[in-house]
Amino acid sequence: MISIFLIFHMALPLIISEIPYIKNNFKINRLSLLIGSIFPDLIDKPLSIMEISSGRGFSHSLFFVFIYFLVLLALTKGDKSISVPFFIGCLFHLALDMPSIPLFYPFVYYDFSILKDPIGHWWIILLTNPIIQATELIGAAIFIFIIWNNKLFSFRDIINYIKTNSIHSNKD
Ligand SMILES: [Zn+2]
Repeated sequence: MISIFLIFHMALPLIISEIPYIKNNFKINRLSLLIGSIFPDLIDKPLSIMEISSGRGFSHSLFFVFIYFLVLLALTKGDKSISVPFFIGCLFHLALDMPSIPLFYPFVYYDFSILKDPIGHWWIILLTNPIIQATELIGAAIFIFIIWNNKLFSFRDIINYIKTNSIHSNKD
């Protein structure tokens, strides 16, 4: 519930990928981590804007996230350095949206409420909820820290950074 906008959703898994133990032991495609970290919203929020589904609809369930993972695994011909970070990013997304998500859909019944004017609703939350404002600001601060700490001052550096977390291939 603490994060309904995208900055903190992306910043948290990204800063965790900066932990030296993870950096040294796991090869992670950060781009797929970042896309995974917002993917449930990329599917559900447009459906919500069209007033077809809830902003936290079926893509906010473990079942659908796992299906997206399997599809990506097949599309990337089994490349786990792409599909696993994507899956982990999705799990972070669900965790940050807890508890008001249909986690066990379709095995458990959920009442999907369709918002009228979801964009107006999100604006009101952004402008009036100090906890949401604080987490998004923390997310922005994390991004600034990561840019500074990794000296990502050129477009090329940023591209290299998001392609992998492997220190060695960053220096190729
Ligand atoms: Zn969400």
